[in-house]
Amino acid sequence: MKNTDRLKVALMASRNPKSQEVLQSLWMKLKEKKFILTPKNPDVVISIGGDGMLLSAFHKYEKLIDHVRFVGIHTGHLGFYTDYRDFEVDKLVDNLALDTGARVSYPILNVKVKLMDGRVLTMRALNEATVKRLSKTMVADVFINGVAFERFRGDGISVSTPTGSTAYNKSLGGAVLHPTIEALQIAEVASLNNRVYRTLGSSIVVPKKDKIVIEPKHDDRYSISIDNKNYTYDKIQQIDYQIDQKKIHFVASPSHTSFWNRVKDAFIGEVE
Ligand code: NAD
Repeated sequence: MKNTDRLKVALMASRNPKSQEVLQSLWMKLKEKKFILTPKNPDVVISIGGDGMLLSAFHKYEKLIDHVRFVGIHTGHLGFYTDYRDFEVDKLVDNLALDTGARVSYPILNVKVKLMDGRVLTMRALNEATVKRLSKTMVADVFINGVAFERFRGDGISVSTPTGSTAYNKSLGGAVLHPTIEALQIAEVASLNNRVYRTLGSSIVVPKKDKIVIEPKHDDRYSISIDNKNYTYDKIQQIDYQIDQKKIHFVASPSHTSFWNRVKDAFIGEVE
């Protein structure tokens, strides 16, 4: 695209001093290059901070995800959704000036919470949705594509996207999925497994076409964490999970780090 001076850019920064410093400097540099800086209906959203900030940016602009593309600058340790380091502001501005509209897209999760009073709350997650019963052991039936798969007993169940597979899912013992694999992953949170209660015990990778349904067995209070947000609900009838029809788009640039490099950098480091 050659009309970069018309690209509308929104900036979102975490409160830490480094992020605020980067925000000021980026703001000035984008202004100089005649980008339109606006939080309204942007073409590109730049989040400055860490993965948590990018998750917040996604949720702020999720209604516009068809149109908007994201870029992450990290001001702390290495992030999964952040392509640029805090000292690479000039490189980012140069890349945006040469932007052709190219994007890299990843699947996101669609979650429908169906309450017993008939309400249906639809949400999207970039990393995962985790349901837990607040007071006691959660008992829930898990259906995969209509098959009554198992009765779960334990702390909770996480359903993650491929890009979320390296987040909470990984801590739960789930596998790391490349984000071009359009699949969801179910991971158990501390399941009870003994002679009486039985679940599969390992994480399950479910293809795009399959719907996951979790049906909690008690009329009680449940927390549902969608990425970095927490909600509490009474009397959930069921929760439906599927890959969303929409995807999140990132600005494709030479700095868009390959997924395996991110995984290596984050979890392995340099090998001798
Ligand atoms: P946060 O922003 O402090 O993030 C927690 C950590 O998760 C950070 O180190 C962040 O870089 C990392 N992270 C986030 N998304 C990631 C991804 N896709 N791949 C690899 N690492 C990722 O905490 P928050 O804002 O409350 O929650 C954001 C995310 O943190 C949640 O979506 C969840 O996946 C993750 N989380 C992980 C655990 C755990 O591993 N035990 C517990 C709670 C939350």
